[in-house]
Amino acid sequence: MSKGVQLEGLHKNFGSATAVSDLSLTIHDGELFVLLGPSGCGKTTTLRMVAGLERPTAGRIFIDGQNVTRLEPRRRDIAMVFQDYGLYPHLLVRDNIGFPLKIRKIDRAERLRKIEEVAERLHIAHLLDRKPSALSGGEKQRVSLARALVRNPKVFLMDEPLSNLDAKLRTSMRAEIKRLVYGLGITTIYVTHDQIEAMALATRIGVMDRGRMVQIGTPQEVYDRPADKFVAQFIGSPPMNLFNGEISGDERIDIKPEFLAKVVAKDRVRTIAALSNERVPVVLGIRPEDVHIVGRTDSNGAIGKVELVEPLGQDTNVYLSVNGVELVAVTKRGDFTVGEVVGIRIDPESIHLIDGDSGKIFTR
Ligand code: ATP
Repeated sequence: MSKGVQLEGLHKNFGSATAVSDLSLTIHDGELFVLLGPSGCGKTTTLRMVAGLERPTAGRIFIDGQNVTRLEPRRRDIAMVFQDYGLYPHLLVRDNIGFPLKIRKIDRAERLRKIEEVAERLHIAHLLDRKPSALSGGEKQRVSLARALVRNPKVFLMDEPLSNLDAKLRTSMRAEIKRLVYGLGITTIYVTHDQIEAMALATRIGVMDRGRMVQIGTPQEVYDRPADKFVAQFIGSPPMNLFNGEISGDERIDIKPEFLAKVVAKDRVRTIAALSNERVPVVLGIRPEDVHIVGRTDSNGAIGKVELVEPLGQDTNVYLSVNGVELVAVTKRGDFTVGEVVGIRIDPESIHLIDGDSGKIFTR
């Protein structure tokens, strides 16, 4: 079997509750794989099973081709970084970083050399003689990263490592982690509920929902071609606009706002109508950046009223009301006033058509 991490039919029950269900996944050697999903979807449980801190109810885990399912954590050659840093408060930063080397009985001179080296790399060489209580949150997280990196593990596991940091620090640490992990080429599994963090970091993202893996793909793939309504809604900010409707056997589409019926490509409606003699419930998904605000005469016959404007500097979120239905547009323009009436144009190609029953995206 190849290098990297393989999960085969992984399952975890806590009593009668299922935390992780039939999860199979290959994480390639050197990849930064992000497990993404809302709170409680089973990300941490999955990571803890890879670490050996939780025993799977069923399934197998391979690291670099070796079946580690029943191996104790310290024999798996993994290093973990947690949200709460997990530093030993009574030890100096130097000894915190050196701890994994000490328990592996690496001799003192070698230990000191490695500590210095990793501290340089993480810009914390000046903090080595402090205790963790004398560090800021960002510094603590650097120490925790240094401790994980100091012995070149086979696999790096990170559980929401940035969530205790303020927004600005989070962005800069995120870039630093990416540079570090990509530079070292260590296979990494990174857990987050923050889709922007996931998009920014990942080589591939695995989106989880209620214990199941719903979609695996590059950040661009999961954004451009979400597999179902859950992924479509979860990824993207502001989230995708969703409109419920029905397609009837005679290829008519009933939907609000009504103008959308004219925008959806006829051949796509025909394909869906052919699936059933009954009316087929559909959901139309449109990303906010695909809602174009235009002059009233350039629209697809759609007129909206500006209800709310959020100027974010780079972009502006514009909340519009079309015949009482709300939709949000993201635009570069910033000069809107509440109450203003504008035209709306939507490219048929940018519409995601979702099966209203199963939540799956209709393939063309
Ligand atoms: P979060 O982002 O909030 O940490 P998560 O996606 O990491 O969420 P998990 O922590 O893996 O989710 O939890 C998955 C499910 O398993 C949840 O319903 C949780 O309550 C349950 N669970 C986790 N650990 C245990 C445990 N030790 N005993 C019982 N139930 C647990």
